[in-house]
Amino acid sequence: MSETRIRMAIQKSGRLNQRSVSLLEKCGIDFPWRQNMLLNRCRDFPLDLMLVRDDDIPEYVRTGVCDIGIVGQNVLEEKLSGHGHGEAPAEVAVLRELGFGHCRLSIAVPKDRDYGGLETLNGTRIATSYPVILGRFLRASDVSVDIVELSGSVEIAPALKVADAICDLVSSGSTLQSNGLEEVETILTSQAVLIRARNGAPSATEEIIDRLSRRIDGVLRAGKSKYIMMNAPASRVDDICEILPGMESPSVVPLVGQRDRVAIHAVAPEDVFWDTMDRLKAAGAASILVVPIEKIIA
Ligand code: ATP
Ligand code: ZN
Repeated sequence: MSETRIRMAIQKSGRLNQRSVSLLEKCGIDFPWRQNMLLNRCRDFPLDLMLVRDDDIPEYVRTGVCDIGIVGQNVLEEKLSGHGHGEAPAEVAVLRELGFGHCRLSIAVPKDRDYGGLETLNGTRIATSYPVILGRFLRASDVSVDIVELSGSVEIAPALKVADAICDLVSSGSTLQSNGLEEVETILTSQAVLIRARNGAPSATEEIIDRLSRRIDGVLRAGKSKYIMMNAPASRVDDICEILPGMESPSVVPLVGQRDRVAIHAVAPEDVFWDTMDRLKAAGAASILVVPIEKIIA
């Protein structure tokens, strides 16, 4: 019998590609990286990677061409909203939010335009690559505009007099800034997500999807966590543990030759900020080390 393998779609090149590949690498999934090959067979894990345009990923997953995929929530909603009856597409499930590819879909108007709220957009032309999401938002707000669909360089539409305003992805806002535009409404916030078709798959496939999801959880949890170590007077252990918020019970280890001092080790579920370090020091901690964690398996 042939070995069961799953097929995963990720962006071939662009903003999500590197982070998707690096997530898989951190999961211990190694593949011969050939960008111009459609399918890359991974070693050591029953996964074949399909490298495609991000716009096609929701449809590949919906139709079962791929079992899972990594795509921005913005693209997922734009491409599949029509298949469901609410905000989330009906046939594709989001398995995990992946914590990268953060952006927002926003309406922006020329800086010199007096913006007095959504209703002042009535009767204007808005250029966007997201006509589905924008249309739904405006209908819900009872605003009627002429949506001009463009596939790229949306930000230059007002200067070209193709539209009065735009609706586009923003992360830092510098593109809007340099085109003389001002962000006035955010209609969606987005990040990269791991998706799969809702239909159950054969149990061997389900088992591989579960195994991969667990590895991804381990990487995501580790990505946010830090391991913190310090030496401190034994008498201050309680004070120090109080400063370490939300951590599992720290380990307190004796120090050779120092009866009144101990080492304290703990896993912090989030980054340890300078402010916490200062408070630890004030409580008597010394030689404080904060190190990244590679994997956590609960
Ligand atoms: P493709 O060739 O695969 O169609 P693309 O040009 O449509 O690529 P990219 O610009 O690479 O797409 O963006 C991919 C995704 O990255 C977006 O759909 C979005 O989810 C995310 N993203 C994060 N920040 C931004 C940003 N500032 N602008 C655009 N997309 C962003
Ligand atoms: Zn695209």
